[in-house]
Amino acid sequence: MGKDKETKTVKEKKEKKQFKAESKKLLDLMINSIYTNKEIFLRELLSNASDAIDKLYYKSLTDNSITINKEDFCIKIDIDKDDRKIIITDNGCGMTKEELENNLGTIAKSGSLAFKEENKNDDIDIIGQFGVGFYSAFMVSEKIKVESKSIDSDDAWIWKSEGADGYEIKKGKKDTVGTTITLKLKKDTDDEKYSEFLDSYRIQGIVKKYSDYIRYPIKMMLEHSELKEGTENEYETTLQEETINSMIPLWKKAKKDITEDEYNNFYSSKFFDYDKPLKTIHTNVEGNVSYNAILYIPSHLPYDFYTKEYEKGLQLYSSGVLIMEKCSELLPDYFSFVKGLVDTEDVSLNISREILQQNTKVKTIAKSIEKKIKKELETMLKEDRDAYESFFKTFGMQIKFGIYSDYGMHKDELKDLIMFYSSTEKKLVTLEEYVSRMKEGQDCIYYACGENKQKIDNMPQVEGIKEKGYEILYLTEYVDEFALQTLTTYNAKKFVNVSNDTVDLDSEEEKKQLEKANTDAKDMFDIMKKVLENNNITDIKFTHRLKKHPVCLTTEGDISVEMQKVLNALPNDNKVNAKMILEINESHPISNKLKDLYTSDKEALEKYTKILYSQARLIEGLPIDNPTEISNLICDIIAND
Ligand code: ADP
Repeated sequence: MGKDKETKTVKEKKEKKQFKAESKKLLDLMINSIYTNKEIFLRELLSNASDAIDKLYYKSLTDNSITINKEDFCIKIDIDKDDRKIIITDNGCGMTKEELENNLGTIAKSGSLAFKEENKNDDIDIIGQFGVGFYSAFMVSEKIKVESKSIDSDDAWIWKSEGADGYEIKKGKKDTVGTTITLKLKKDTDDEKYSEFLDSYRIQGIVKKYSDYIRYPIKMMLEHSELKEGTENEYETTLQEETINSMIPLWKKAKKDITEDEYNNFYSSKFFDYDKPLKTIHTNVEGNVSYNAILYIPSHLPYDFYTKEYEKGLQLYSSGVLIMEKCSELLPDYFSFVKGLVDTEDVSLNISREILQQNTKVKTIAKSIEKKIKKELETMLKEDRDAYESFFKTFGMQIKFGIYSDYGMHKDELKDLIMFYSSTEKKLVTLEEYVSRMKEGQDCIYYACGENKQKIDNMPQVEGIKEKGYEILYLTEYVDEFALQTLTTYNAKKFVNVSNDTVDLDSEEEKKQLEKANTDAKDMFDIMKKVLENNNITDIKFTHRLKKHPVCLTTEGDISVEMQKVLNALPNDNKVNAKMILEINESHPISNKLKDLYTSDKEALEKYTKILYSQARLIEGLPIDNPTEISNLICDIIAND
């Protein structure tokens, strides 16, 4: 006997399978988790159970061989106090052997782990950030057994694991389709009382808190105290099965009956973000098309937002049944960060992806949702500026991109949602605010582009405009100038780059004087232009836009230096050249120096020209073709000083 047993254990050990490497790491995290909110394991398992029932129900709609009574769907929670076990049973689609291996042997949302890896040094709360579904059960369990029979298989299978060192799979006996998960709770320690989860009222509380909306009954045996039959004051405790969730989807409830906590819990459980959303939009629309929607604006950037894995879209329900996890047709690209769901009777249950794209009802809903989101953002901007600024810092790039994309088709809808840092207000301002305080005599909206605020502050080109007391918008993201150029005007005021040669701050008299200075110096400039003829310089001239700075580059036409940088960094062969003008401060001593050299030493004038041009390029953050030559020229001058 003893020997038999031994060989069996050896055999079993051999069959033990290892978790995929990254799952193992995550499991370690879960098992040794110090996460305080351990109760969420129940929410994760119940929502898996509910999804599994959804899947089976959905399948039954198209597959006549599946005969199921919708009323029979349910999830059961049993508690075995003596054995310290919680048993969760659903009659959903179940899992085949392969599915057990693939779904539970490897982590589904491996993106979260990749994220954790990338941010190794930050002690981020991975559960708080993403939720990890099934694995969270290891926070409270020392052993987990999953017995499942798939609708697609005649056999049942048992998956068992005691944690990070692996799992095993063997044939099971379950004869009905569905899944039973048995958790053997960890032993209590001084700090953690896992026994709390053996208390049926505690479990009931957790279900109410996180899973009340689940549309299938969650049943549990609960103790009831009843008058003993035939007595007047003797009570006995009986066990009765009860449904503990209200089963009304949150979005079908009246707004006034929903607490903020409920909205937030729902958000975390559905969209795997355990930070509170920045804004919740709940809307019930009746009319041409009718729908209920709950939409959330996240408070931070989804970790995969800028990866190709990120898919925009809302969950789409048809009369309460989930038919699509990410319906991208419901959201425009510039609101791709919005999470949420839409439930409508106007889209049929078995609509195909292709038909959905053409469906006019879906289009109408999408339009209506877009309007709601926009209105909500406008209200936030008016009534809760801090929240809006925080939103804009996170997702503003999307909105600006929205203005520029599709040939500016949406620019009018979005122009009041964008903000830029202001030179005078020292904070983010809207275009409307800018225009409303424009100075007498100011006829355009000035903006400057650069890597960051400090760099823009130091730009020679902003000097003259600041001195006039005009406000300047600081554009620091690559999409910014493209967005403003798409708008071209706001309230009939033109956007003007401070580095554009059309900037005109002079009085008529000053203009005349400058024109004369330029005409007088024409021959000198011709020599200088010759020196720079291979450098894309369209003109050289004196300017009044500079105050203490000697030189700067400006551009003629639509393409600015910043745009040239952005466009030429794109991986294609269409390189552009901004039309650059070298401007020299007419009231700086350098201009007289140049004039002197023109009459006394043309060779030196050529050297100075090269140096000035290189300086102007450096200021713009542009490379110099011949740094050694320039360095030598400067040294020559310093040495002879
Ligand atoms: P998620 O639910 O976020 O995908 P989980 O780790 O919770 O991640 O579950 C992984 C997968 O295992 C699920 O996507 C589902 O396919 C499967 N699964 C989990 N629980 C069940 C269940 N009770 N019935 C059927 N399939 C399940």
